[in-house]
Amino acid sequence: MHPIDTLGRPLRDLRISVTDRCNFRCTYCMPKEVFGRDYEFLVRDLLLTFEEIARITSVFAGLGVHKVRLTGGEPLLRREVESLVEMLASIPGVDDMTMTTNGSLLARKAEALAAAGLDRVTVSLDSLDDATFMAMNDVGFPVSKVLEAIDAADAAGLGPVKVNVVVKRGVNDHEVRGIAEHFRGTNRIVRFIEYMDVGRTNGWKMDDVMPAAEMLAVIAAEAPFEPITPAYPGEVASRFRYTDGSGEFGVIASVTRPFCGSCTRARLSAEGSLFTCLFATGGHDLRALVRGGASDEQLRDAITGVWTRRGDRYSEIRSEATAGWQKVEMSYIGG
Ligand code: SAM
Repeated sequence: MHPIDTLGRPLRDLRISVTDRCNFRCTYCMPKEVFGRDYEFLVRDLLLTFEEIARITSVFAGLGVHKVRLTGGEPLLRREVESLVEMLASIPGVDDMTMTTNGSLLARKAEALAAAGLDRVTVSLDSLDDATFMAMNDVGFPVSKVLEAIDAADAAGLGPVKVNVVVKRGVNDHEVRGIAEHFRGTNRIVRFIEYMDVGRTNGWKMDDVMPAAEMLAVIAAEAPFEPITPAYPGEVASRFRYTDGSGEFGVIASVTRPFCGSCTRARLSAEGSLFTCLFATGGHDLRALVRGGASDEQLRDAITGVWTRRGDRYSEIRSEATAGWQKVEMSYIGG
């Protein structure tokens, strides 16, 4: 039996954070002021082991999950993460195995990840200008290394590579057109992401958001495009293809056009908590169940119970309730 939540949404995707650590300090995500030298990251014993992650994932697969994405923190910081990829990729029912990474360690890992069964990779890259990129990652990491990582991933068969670009007003919004142009015709799929509030850590304000509608207008001035019908219900990005056949790109309008209604994603944190929304404040402790000797049936019942009670639609509620959030007319976005 595949569970359905209170809003009729099935469980289809699992995002697994394999570490809470990152070697970047992106100002919009893990700013130095919060994640500085004194910040206490999880000690090893608190992290789920690969065997525990694989066991939990196989239970999720039995409940309808077929798409698994490894993330973090920075997933490639977890030692021998390719062994985990191999374990997860062999779980019956898991037919799409992906990873989101900042690319810093990807060039040397790409072949091993592909050999282990990773299907595709998404690489985050917010700017093509070193000064801007280094100011955003705040550790002085250069653009060229990420571009090399994207090439290495492509060569290893992890393509088509998606490139995530978080757009922050006054920081890199002037680059939307240039980034779209840079990747047009290259088989890399750029996804421009509206800057989101990730809690009290990044000092989010609506003024810092470039609405996706504006991004589309900027790109349209350079190259005409048309909407692509979503590949499956619940696809996060609204996708577009250039009418001259030079590829596609997407926008993720989490702020101005929340897509809670079609969200089929569960999240497993590095310490084994199950979250039913990116913005949920509390998780459900699956590690305690696993380490307490729960059977697969008990795990399945616990996850089913959480999912069938799920009613999260945080982004939509916030969008409706907060005067400062603009509703942008984006009727020309497909899907
Ligand atoms: N370290 C990996 C990386 O950099 O891709 C994986 C984790 S990172 C949290 C996953 C994605 O979330 C990245 O593409 C990142 O740019 C995006 N992200 C982080 N904070 C964000 C925010 N405030 N608004 C929008 N996207 C954000």
